[in-house]
Amino acid sequence: MSRSESSDRSQESPAVAGRLARYPSLLTFAAAAGVLALLQGGFQLLVQQSFDKQLALGMARLGLIIGIVTVLLFVPIALLARRWHPSARAGDRGRAFRSLLFGFTVAVGVWMIVRSLASGPLVTAALAPWLAAAVALAAGGWVALRPPSERLTRRAAWLGLAALILALLPWGAPGPPAPPGAEGAEERVSAENLAVARRSDRPLPDVVLVSIDTLRADRLGAYGQVPTLTPEMDRLAEEGLVFERALAASPWTVPSVASMLTGLPTVRHGAGLPLGSGPTFVRSPLSARYASIAERFSAAGYRTHAIVANAFLNPGMGMARGFDAFDMPLNRAVGAIFMADIPLVRLLVTLFPVESWADYRAQGITDAAVAALAQEDDAPLFLWVHYIDPHTPYQADPSELDLDAWAAEVRQRQPEVLDDGTIVGEVFAGTSHVRSGYIWLGPEDRRRLGEYYDRAVSYVDGEVGRLFAALRERREERGVVAALTADHGEELWDHGHFEHGHDYYREVTRVPLIFWGPGVVPAGRAATTLAGLVDVAPTLLDLAGFEVAPAAAPDEGRSLAGSLAVAEPSVMNESRPAADETDEVYDSPAERIVRFSGGNLYGLPAVLLEDDTWRFILRANGVTELYDVAGDPLERRDLSADEPLLVESFRALLEPRLQVFLENAAEDAAALDPETLKALQSLGYVQ
Ligand SMILES: [Zn+2]
Repeated sequence: MSRSESSDRSQESPAVAGRLARYPSLLTFAAAAGVLALLQGGFQLLVQQSFDKQLALGMARLGLIIGIVTVLLFVPIALLARRWHPSARAGDRGRAFRSLLFGFTVAVGVWMIVRSLASGPLVTAALAPWLAAAVALAAGGWVALRPPSERLTRRAAWLGLAALILALLPWGAPGPPAPPGAEGAEERVSAENLAVARRSDRPLPDVVLVSIDTLRADRLGAYGQVPTLTPEMDRLAEEGLVFERALAASPWTVPSVASMLTGLPTVRHGAGLPLGSGPTFVRSPLSARYASIAERFSAAGYRTHAIVANAFLNPGMGMARGFDAFDMPLNRAVGAIFMADIPLVRLLVTLFPVESWADYRAQGITDAAVAALAQEDDAPLFLWVHYIDPHTPYQADPSELDLDAWAAEVRQRQPEVLDDGTIVGEVFAGTSHVRSGYIWLGPEDRRRLGEYYDRAVSYVDGEVGRLFAALRERREERGVVAALTADHGEELWDHGHFEHGHDYYREVTRVPLIFWGPGVVPAGRAATTLAGLVDVAPTLLDLAGFEVAPAAAPDEGRSLAGSLAVAEPSVMNESRPAADETDEVYDSPAERIVRFSGGNLYGLPAVLLEDDTWRFILRANGVTELYDVAGDPLERRDLSADEPLLVESFRALLEPRLQVFLENAAEDAAALDPETLKALQSLGYVQ
């Protein structure tokens, strides 16, 4: 042992150092994984230009998992290759193994960084991997032949250990309940206010909530699409009750789903607001002070199970509260999506395809839902199933959507122009580039994307059909009540833009809403009453046979069960027999209805109000738009200038709401209520 090594060791606790030195290969492994974790996590953070604590911890955890898996994959290769290493020829096989392990690790880290940096405007995309490979070989080879000193190895190993501890911290768990405000805001929901009373002693039915991400209403045959893309959902509509006018609570997932689960408008629950300067996607979770439908069903003795395929809908965002089981296949696949660039990881994923252990596509989601239904239990089941398929990324065959498409979506690499001068190939994931205006899509590209979207809708329709086939079978044994809806739609250049999260026109904010329940919900009816995602939770509770308190404010969700009795037989079902008999008696809605949508993900903040006659948009730059729902369904003629009095009254109603989104002031949103109520009264909405 050389003098310098013994003096290294004397700087640490001799006992610890002595024990560690007995396992040099293990030390090297920890050091290599730690280095790779830091390289990958740190580099991702630099690329994201963000130092948000949660994101940093997430990257550390992900980086460490990637590091460990990658170095594990290198172990057998280093063991095989060590005999050719100079140290092995000199008689030290251990040192040869450790040198190679470090060399491989450095090569992968360098390859990943160079390739990512090189795929910018300076180097053509075709050259980038070759350049990265050359630099990585040189760097890895240099390290392998000149291994770091034992002292450096030990320090790197400690770093690896620190990364491991950091990654294992429970940072992803739901945070503590929001502290009550100074003016005595509501505390976390308590057992008493979760309690729901049963209307009768009838056996409780199973309740199934199906939401399909990014499904615009007008793509369903039941909502006018000719020829239909959705025979299964149309059949559901024929067997149930269709709300022809259902409003999404916001143009993107988190606020809209939070409204669907709580029955509160986005301006009141405050989920999905920006948390301050930083990445757009870092948003406020659903506060624990608002009860979700899962908590209510759970309190009523239901088993609660969710299968969701949108990565935003996770426990950290408050979406899992009240669920006994919360399955997130897309989130399970996230590690593989981030690792997709590492060659050996790709080999592993080829051997064990992601779809076999984390199928986030509709077929996997339906399989999981059918399995959840098959679990024998006397307690009734509340099941929430959220499909992702009509959402970007788009693939020509949506049933084959794979890891590469998601990796491209996560990385948002600049798409290449194809030989025919178009950009949209078999896979399209350059959404951010289109949204930001960085790339321009011509008519053929837009047509292709529209076609891919329609195919995704057809694909998810078939899987929804499979789920409802299972429900029809189950219906033989016990009561089943279901709702089918979407969190928002998708703009396909209807008003000059693409995707969702940015605007409020009907292609983005009108969603399908169908209630289904043989023996409870009459068949073949369509209601023209205005409805919203806020109405889903109270309606399902009502249909399941629970007392539902009247809405505390006019913008809160109400049970739509009253519409069952007054709904017209749907035009498309005129030839069908009369509605099923029902043993429930419902009151018809007395007051006029108004529904709101608000809370952008991108672009100029805006809010929308819809009532019997109008759709009104107020934007943060003061611009208003007013559309006649019946006379101008495609929203082409803005009538703001023709109806100045109406515009002023709507503006007065929406300005305080817009202010909440401009100031991210969700905590103060409750203070809006008296004002809202007053404004609504002044418009004659509330007696
Ligand atoms: Zn969504």
